[in-house]
Amino acid sequence: MTTELADPLAGRSALVTGAASGIGRAVAERLQAAGVRVLAADLRPDPDGPGVAFEADLTDPGANAAAVAAAVERFGRLDIVVANAGVQHVAPIEEFPLERWQTILALMLTSPFLLARSAWPALRESPSGRFIVIASAHALAASPYKAAYVSAKHGVLGLVKTLALEGAAHGIRTTAVCPAYVRTPLVEHQIADQARVHGLSEEEVTEQVLLAPQAIKQLIEPSEVAEVVAFLAGPGGASFTGVPVTMDQGWTAR
Ligand code: NAD
Repeated sequence: MTTELADPLAGRSALVTGAASGIGRAVAERLQAAGVRVLAADLRPDPDGPGVAFEADLTDPGANAAAVAAAVERFGRLDIVVANAGVQHVAPIEEFPLERWQTILALMLTSPFLLARSAWPALRESPSGRFIVIASAHALAASPYKAAYVSAKHGVLGLVKTLALEGAAHGIRTTAVCPAYVRTPLVEHQIADQARVHGLSEEEVTEQVLLAPQAIKQLIEPSEVAEVVAFLAGPGGASFTGVPVTMDQGWTAR
């Protein structure tokens, strides 16, 4: 006779942002497979993707509160928030458009702040509240031509540390997953942009620029990041809070 043990995440509910593509999509799929009910928020939601598709432009402050409210209303609880939506812009500092700076800060720093602010009451109610940001190795180290991205990612690590201190008394754990380069559309677009800025071919950019700081010269798969998120969301993640969870192929070992 075999006994099937329920996944410890089964029955929980989650809000995942940027869930229509790349890492967010893999996270939504992984959590859903564990029995988590997922609200999949995105600027361009995919009705055929994992979870319940929810359209939200998270650079709009009101959309963050609306996404949290939709998850709570639909599922009656909210246990896990994965603040993942992000974009990149590659340009030298003297040409960096203010409008791109503002969009990147709004999406990758202000949106996680607003999501936490709105989700806090529901996360406090949860037996194991988790606020997980998909940050980046760029929360810990810089690269040229990415002023806004690197600033937003460093900033969001500060937010995660602050939330960990505030959430501790309420059982809420907050972490910043910090991957090196992951095989997603965001990176595929960047290879083309970087080729232009550096005056190199796309193959040269991948080998000489993108993967140059990594000890292991391989792209990470979105499913690998999703596995780390599932671990952090589950019982094994209980003692991780206020920290970067670095999966950077040896980048920051130097
Ligand atoms: P992606 O481009 O594949 O997906 C990003 C998703 O965010 C898209 O579905 C997009 O529609 C959505 N989005 C963009 N603007 C939005 C907005 N205003 N409101 C709501 N949704 C919006 O990108 P990805 O590579 O999966 O990146 C996801 C996160 O992981 C980002 O925060 C990124 O910085 C981070 N990250 C990526 C890598 C990498 O190498 N790909 C490495 C480290 C960290």
